[in-house]
Amino acid sequence: MADRDGKIWKDGELIDWRDATVHVLTHTLHYGMGVFEGVRAYKTDKGTAIFRLKEHTQRLFNSAKIFQLNIPYDMETLMQAQLQVVRENKLESCYLRPLVWIGSEKLGISAKGNTIHVAVAAWPWGAYLGEDGLAKGIRVKTSSFTRHHVNVSLVRAKACGYYINSILANQEALADGYDEALLLDTEGYVSEGSGENVFVIKNGKIYTPDLASCLDGITRDAVLTMARDLGIPVIEKRITRDEVYCCDEAFFTGTAAEITPIRELDNRQIGEGRRGPITEKLQTLFFDVVAGRAPQYQHWLTLV
Ligand code: PMP
Repeated sequence: MADRDGKIWKDGELIDWRDATVHVLTHTLHYGMGVFEGVRAYKTDKGTAIFRLKEHTQRLFNSAKIFQLNIPYDMETLMQAQLQVVRENKLESCYLRPLVWIGSEKLGISAKGNTIHVAVAAWPWGAYLGEDGLAKGIRVKTSSFTRHHVNVSLVRAKACGYYINSILANQEALADGYDEALLLDTEGYVSEGSGENVFVIKNGKIYTPDLASCLDGITRDAVLTMARDLGIPVIEKRITRDEVYCCDEAFFTGTAAEITPIRELDNRQIGEGRRGPITEKLQTLFFDVVAGRAPQYQHWLTLV
């Protein structure tokens, strides 16, 4: 990805893509203490718009606060940076990656006194779990790796190092022939995917794990809001893996994954083994929302 044309916003200025580099002694590269966001912009008939820009930027600042990383810019500057990157790269629809990291002044566990840096990059990125996955659903395996414990990792933060756990789970699932992993929490309850929140539907009601061990996903929040607005009951609660086996429908949500149906977990077919009707309804509404075709959710879009 390093070798391509385009511009990246780095520490306050737009620079050439190929020049957006860091030193090998960058603190975050060694210890993983950095925070980031994943954001998407979509083509609408009024032009390209970023989905829930403010919420993503707020989560970035919350993540930084949790780790006492003082971002040397304000929210407005970083929101403008994201808009600028989409504009300057002339992207119609894309994925954006704001990243906050600790500089290379000194190594050692303590990063006290080191500089804090920010970059924002954007590039085209299609369906994360495949177009087929969006339409037909994916096959998922419960991971042998456990999700974060609240006092090991502070899961309100979206932090670089946490993704070691995600990569382990995803690697295992892919090696075993599945499309994605489902991670359980330290007590054995369903937590989330390697980069997605999870939902199940049973008897017309939508269930999703509470936020104890999973990321407070912005797509999760959008789905909860849309479901309530559609009059579908939503319940946040502990969920067991066998509840997922026996549910009518299940799906993952995430900025990258959007709304991806799950058709199988641990070789048990879920529902009819394809995208279910409520999932389809929510997915259709979601794609209308991000494309600016749902006026009631216009406030979630910021035109670039
Ligand atoms: N959980 C994890 C671990 C993630 O990485 C993501 C992607 N950011 C999500 C859930 C979904 O969050 P969002 O909808 O805000 O992208």
